[in-house]
Parts: sequence; C-alpha cells; structure tokens
Amino acid sequence: MTSAETPATTPAENEVAELCTELISVDSSNYGDGSGPGERAAAEVVMARLAEVGIEATYIESAPGRGNVITRVEGTDPSLPALLVHGHLDVVPANAADWSVDPFAGEIRDGYIWGRGAVDMKDMDAMMLAVLRQLTRDGRRPRRDLVFAWVADEEAGGVYGAKHLTKHHPELFEGVTESISEVGGYSLEVDPSLRLYLIETAQKGLAWMRLLSDGTAGHGSMLNSDNAVTEIARAVARIGAHEWPITLTPTVRTFLTEVAAAFGIPFDENDPAPVLDKIGPLVRFVGATLSHTTNPTQLDAGYKSNVIPGRASAVVDGRFLPGHEDEFFKTVDELIGPNVRREFVHHDIALETSFDGALVESMIAALKAEDPTARAVPYCMSGGTDNKTFFADLGVRGFGFVPLRLPGDMDFASMFHGVDERVPVEALQFGVRVLDRLLLNY
Ligand SMILES: [Zn+2]
Repeated sequence: MTSAETPATTPAENEVAELCTELISVDSSNYGDGSGPGERAAAEVVMARLAEVGIEATYIESAPGRGNVITRVEGTDPSLPALLVHGHLDVVPANAADWSVDPFAGEIRDGYIWGRGAVDMKDMDAMMLAVLRQLTRDGRRPRRDLVFAWVADEEAGGVYGAKHLTKHHPELFEGVTESISEVGGYSLEVDPSLRLYLIETAQKGLAWMRLLSDGTAGHGSMLNSDNAVTEIARAVARIGAHEWPITLTPTVRTFLTEVAAAFGIPFDENDPAPVLDKIGPLVRFVGATLSHTTNPTQLDAGYKSNVIPGRASAVVDGRFLPGHEDEFFKTVDELIGPNVRREFVHHDIALETSFDGALVESMIAALKAEDPTARAVPYCMSGGTDNKTFFADLGVRGFGFVPLRLPGDMDFASMFHGVDERVPVEALQFGVRVLDRLLLNY
C-alpha cells in the first residue's frame, strides 16, 4: 500500500500495523482444553518489543505456555488513581480452509490487516504496544499510573489469565480504579457529519443452568404418571418459548435514545425495533440487551427405547440484565415448575456503570480531537469480558474502549470470531492517536 492511502505521521502510527501483523502471525489459538499452543510466543513478542525501548515488564506464566505480560508506567501525580489498559493475547481457533487468506499470516491487503485476532483483540494489543513504546521513546509521562496488561486465556474463561493475575498477583493492580479494554470504542457512521462511537458500559450476566427432574424409572410398556423425560421436556418447552418482556436498563435506554436522535427518528420504548433497524449488523451486539434471554442448549435422558429413566436433564443458557437478576431467577423458577430443580453450570454477575465522570469525558475528548464528527454513546454487551469476570472483583470500573474509526459499510460485528477477520490499517492508526491523547492527558 502507498503512503498516500495511509497517511501516517508518528512512529506509533507507522509501526502499529507491523506490531499487529507480528502478533497475528503467532498462533495463540485457545481451544479451551489446554491443547493449544498457549500465549507464550505472543507474550514474548510483547516482551521483546517493550525491551527494545527499555521498558521492563513482568512475565507471569500461570501454567506452562500460558504467558501474561504486565508493566506499570509511573504517572506524574501520585495522588491520582491508576488506569488499567488490558488486552488478551489468545484468540479463538480458525479453520484455514474457510478463509480467503492464511489466518495466521498477518497479511495486509487492500488497506486491511487480515487474520485471526485482527479485531479480537490483537488490534488493541498492538495499539497498546505502539502507544506505550512512543510515550517511552519520547520521554513523556502520563498524569496517573498506567498499568498495561496483556493476558492469556480470555477466550476460555480467563483462568490462566485475568483470574490468575487478580488472584495471585493483586499487588500488580494496586491503586487501579478503572480500566479500558474490549469490546467498544468502534464507530457507527450515521452520515458524513456524524459518527457514533459505542463505548461499552454494561454487560449482561450469565446463568448456564442445568435443569434436573427425577421421576419413577420403569418399563416403557407400563403406565407411568411420573416420567422424568416428560417433566423435563415440559420445562424446557416453557422456558424456551417464554417471551421475555422488554426491560430497558439505563445504558440501553440512553443508547436507543441517542441512536434515535442521531438518525432523526422517534424512539418508542414499547417498540424499539425501528431504532434497532438503523444500526444494521451491530444489532448482533445490541439486540439481546433489551431483555433477559433463556435458550435451551442441551438435553440428556435415557439409554434404551423401552426403559423410562429415573432422571432427565437439560441445560439452558440464560443471560440476565444488570439490576434485574432476582426477577430473572424468580421467573425462571416459575417457568420450570415445582418438579424440576436447577443448578448452575456457570454463573457470572451482570455489570453496569454510569456514562459519566472524568474518564468518560476524557474518552469523548480524545475521540472528538481526532474525529470532529464523533459522538460517544454507551451500550450494553450481551456477552462478557475480563472486565466483568475478574477485574470487577478488584473494584475496577471497566469500559469497552478500543477506539476504531471504521468505514461506514463495514460489518464489524461479524469480524468477532468470524471468517476473514480483518481491521483497516487506518482504523488502528486512528486508535493509536486517540489512545495516545487519552492515556497521556487523563
Ligand atoms: Zn476478545
């Protein structure tokens, strides 16, 4: 690509694409069962690039090959709380046969960096590196302490990454009260004079529930009014068919109000569909944040055609809204009925923080300085990140903020864990400029 297509001025902007391709070309696929290559090689890239400019970092291996890198930049004002900037080094696996390019080559084509992790989230890993390297080379110091963490295992629950660090090395995060990381900060173009930047301020909670029913076992040819399979099937049908009412949390209400205003259409709380239509494919991120959801995902019972089993079970993937957990479980219990019990396969909190304060103002200011058409809006994620799962336990207020100015026609949501995952080089350069402003001035 020519320099005319990607005007780059600072060293950080010049090198961010190269750092990103270097990280992508290290396969750090996380299969979730420990069989993958681990994050050590990717962590070594980070360590080497930090060492190159004289930054000392701590390397922590939570298990063989599961590498984490952390470093702290001392601020000029020790009275200010520290900010954590974190990214995960692992990626979900990629089936090369499905791709137009080698997913682990880090190829740059048509102004895009292609490869697994290009948006989730070696883009941010590289932006963090580029900004930190430049701050250091220039001898500029931020106002507050900045803790940079490149962690393992986010894609499989964070046990070898954020969980390990927060549990065994909490001192590394001393003084940290806020954090930024995935999944937010990207743009949604309304028209050439207005781009919305979606900053994640809330995440739904997670309740993977096993439903169990116990009945009377017996021969399939006989009368049986206490059949565990029948009972579990009824419960699964009720919970799967349940239409959860629209419940707008403060974040989602603000988001919909702002989007409606941006597109110049009315917002009817009882019928948000016209507003959601306006956000195109991003509805994948937002669509499931207007209500609880409960999707049955597994069924298990019996072992022979003519034997009624004494027990049947099912698994339901439940996601509840922040602030509405009790009401969610109350309804779930009504739906499954008195003859079915439930236990957790996995249970995680919901999070919501307000869209205000100095960090939010700094993020908005940094965006506007680099894109005068920028308007920041908070949004809620239907999934979760390390921000929720672990750093919230340390009392850290987390935001999804990976600033990317995207082309108006880009289907960004499909890039996450998607085939042909890619990110515009210019978006990374934009992100570097925004992060540089934010991290230096906040
Ligand atoms: Zn991610």
